[in-house]
Amino acid sequence: MKNPTQRGANCRRSKGFSMVALLIVCISALQLRADEPYARARDYDLQHSRIAMRFDLEQKKVLGDVTHNLSILRDGTSKIAFDSVGLTIQNVTVNKSSVKFETTADKLVVPLLAAAKSGDKLDVAIRYEGKPTKGMYFILPDKDYPDRPKQIWTQGESEDTRYYLPTYDYPNDRLTTETILTVPASWITVSNGKLISVSEAGKGLKTWTWRESVPSSTYLITVVAGEFDETRDSWRGMPVTYYAPKGRGDRLPINYGRTPAMIDLFSKKLGVDYPWEKYAQVMVDDFVAGGMENSSATTNTSSSLNHPKIAAELYTDEDGLISHELGHQWFGDLVTCKDWGDIWLNEGFATFMESVWTEAHYGKDQADLERWEGMREWMGQANLFNKPIVRHDFDDSSEFDGNAYTKGGLVLQMLRWQLGEGAFYRGLKHYLEVNRGKNAVTADLSKAIEESSHTNVDQFFSQWLYGAGAPRFDLSYSYDNDKHQVALTVKQTQKVEGRVGIFRVPVDLEITTSSGPKLYEITVSKAEQIFTFPSDSPPLMVLFDKGGHFLKSAEFHKEKKEWLYQLKNAAEFADRADAAVALEKIKNDEEVVTALGAALHSDKFWGLRATAADALGRIGGAAASKQLLDALNSANEPWVRYRIVYALGNFKDDAAIATKLAAIAKDDSSYRARAAALQALGRLKSPGALAALEAAVSGDSPDGYLRNAALRAFGPLGDDKAVPLLRQWSAPGKPIDSRTAAIRSLASLEKSNQEITKQIAGYLSEPHFPVRMAAIFSLGGRGDATAVPALEALLKSSDLSIEMVPMIKEQIARLQKPGAKPASAGAEGGPSASEDGAASEKSAGTAAVLQRLEKLEHLVQEMNERLKSFETRLPLPKP
Ligand SMILES: [Zn+2]
Repeated sequence: MKNPTQRGANCRRSKGFSMVALLIVCISALQLRADEPYARARDYDLQHSRIAMRFDLEQKKVLGDVTHNLSILRDGTSKIAFDSVGLTIQNVTVNKSSVKFETTADKLVVPLLAAAKSGDKLDVAIRYEGKPTKGMYFILPDKDYPDRPKQIWTQGESEDTRYYLPTYDYPNDRLTTETILTVPASWITVSNGKLISVSEAGKGLKTWTWRESVPSSTYLITVVAGEFDETRDSWRGMPVTYYAPKGRGDRLPINYGRTPAMIDLFSKKLGVDYPWEKYAQVMVDDFVAGGMENSSATTNTSSSLNHPKIAAELYTDEDGLISHELGHQWFGDLVTCKDWGDIWLNEGFATFMESVWTEAHYGKDQADLERWEGMREWMGQANLFNKPIVRHDFDDSSEFDGNAYTKGGLVLQMLRWQLGEGAFYRGLKHYLEVNRGKNAVTADLSKAIEESSHTNVDQFFSQWLYGAGAPRFDLSYSYDNDKHQVALTVKQTQKVEGRVGIFRVPVDLEITTSSGPKLYEITVSKAEQIFTFPSDSPPLMVLFDKGGHFLKSAEFHKEKKEWLYQLKNAAEFADRADAAVALEKIKNDEEVVTALGAALHSDKFWGLRATAADALGRIGGAAASKQLLDALNSANEPWVRYRIVYALGNFKDDAAIATKLAAIAKDDSSYRARAAALQALGRLKSPGALAALEAAVSGDSPDGYLRNAALRAFGPLGDDKAVPLLRQWSAPGKPIDSRTAAIRSLASLEKSNQEITKQIAGYLSEPHFPVRMAAIFSLGGRGDATAVPALEALLKSSDLSIEMVPMIKEQIARLQKPGAKPASAGAEGGPSASEDGAASEKSAGTAAVLQRLEKLEHLVQEMNERLKSFETRLPLPKP
């Protein structure tokens, strides 16, 4: 699954940013109720479910008829328990005989007339109905949005299938399904497996029958029905289909057309062909995640359907999301984690598969960039450092965290690097073949690798998967003129405590002198070590972990001239980018600014040019701004242009820059650059900002892209004159994206005006999930305690999904305890994130809570704004 941020729980990607990871995490952040960490003991094996559903749209009700074929696993079984929450059970039969049953808050219990024996087969039929508060969602037109295409969709992971279907709702069982959906004749449905038939059902209805013959877990069941456009494609003759809410079908090919190439690549790389009978991707409105990998039928957010003009400005398009969910079809769906404690076997692999596609399709530099950013993002999240990837103690947080996603993906990249391409992929193939159709734990992976490559990976797994943290290196070297020798001192400075130990990592060390580069392989394994290397003359450049393959932070004490040389000459992106980041700490230095300017103008890879722009923005001063402005004249790629513009947003009190930004906001070849200029004007509070933002709100752009950027920028601008405009754009009837942007900005203005608080509180009861979420978090941030009764009333409302309860409570607590500001660092990660472990570890306890809050806020943003318009979460310091 991909959540709308991670950022942690959420995701960043696009031209150089891994937003996908962000997305994925968000959803998980929502999940504040702790899931069952350990797999259950089972009394029965659910083998097949025939699920028939009708819908009452007016009441948002599901009318279900499900027959479970199950086989008893335990002698003496006297009752069968299904997970079932909030459903009204009308009738239950066992082998066609009516039986009495009991219901509790979360179970349907069916007593058996006689105790059953292991191997006994039972057919349990359940007729039920319900108004699901989660798990199944009804997106319907209303008076404010009369033209909205109708959609019903489900989201099972992690434990929400039980809200619309009484079933065994934990990953450690697998079943085949038949899904029979009766819907209005003009609708389309999508479910797992093959479409068997569509037949007339009278009264303007049709019945669609889908059959999935490959077993998978119940959290991977999907039901989507509604008014959709369909595009058909294929891979080796197998149906590959894409669906968009009606009216947006023309956006499918541009955003999703690379899917067959991805299926082909993954099948070949893994040596295991795509395992399902079809691959459908359905994009739905108001989705509660970025994407969800239901077996053979992924559901993604409709915000991935970029307008063609915006899509053209995204370097990797939506490929991060698409490749992630596709990767799950092997890792997650074909082989499923046995329990949530091993969720990284799903999410880490899916994140890794993103990089497989990136590297094959966009090249090594792009893959290196995403890895480099992922490492910095993870190292910046202090709350993750002390937790192992494999853990079962996630009561107070979500298991879908940056360890399962970002770090899990990075661990697989390290494993690939350490084992070599051949042995690594042989290991994955063996893992998939041995565990195909089964549930796996982490030890199954290490065993498969050892069996296939005869390499013992126990130590690797011990430190990276069962252990926590990553090495923080302090590095320095000296050159001995007499001995012609380089002595490198390597210290590991991470605090050794709990599950964090001293790391053992094989590292490539490269020493370049005037006679060329020499590569050495060393193994670092102690708290402090000195390595010596022959060197004919003083080094021009020493690279530790050349290419940046290991998750780490490194403080390498080098002279300026060495960093300058490295910025210009290092062959790999990660080493040049490290130099750019090191150089930005040297302020007021013309040579540094000139060198970064040269990198910005002429590095061969756009990612380094953008990184250099970031660095110049942080350095500040007239020389740096001149480099940025000059670069604007030649940088045509939108993914570089907008980074330059964003960097210019750091230069306060420079009238010329404000003028330039206003000009860009009005007219530029890139919409992303224009949006970044609007945001920068807001942050800089420049004199003409209000007028520029107002103009952007009334102007036209693809999907209101510039309007939404301007609406977001009114918050940082902080000019109360924008209040009437924001009140107008917050109101029902305006596009949802615009409303959530306006609501968030509105909440930060005229803070003593209770009318505004009242207006925003009025949105708490709206059916539109993103608006409701924006209102909840905006009220918490606004600090006006008169909102407390409205939030408390919301807590009592009957249609509230239980996951929202803790979020609302947190906002109430914020209002009752003014001054508690959410931590701004960490959750978003990014190059600016602090790597000062000592400082951040201390505050990790409270910071974790605050970061979770921050992530949730991020989720709201992400769900409403296009996933890729990430000017709001650029890796730059917030003023
Ligand atoms: Zn995922």
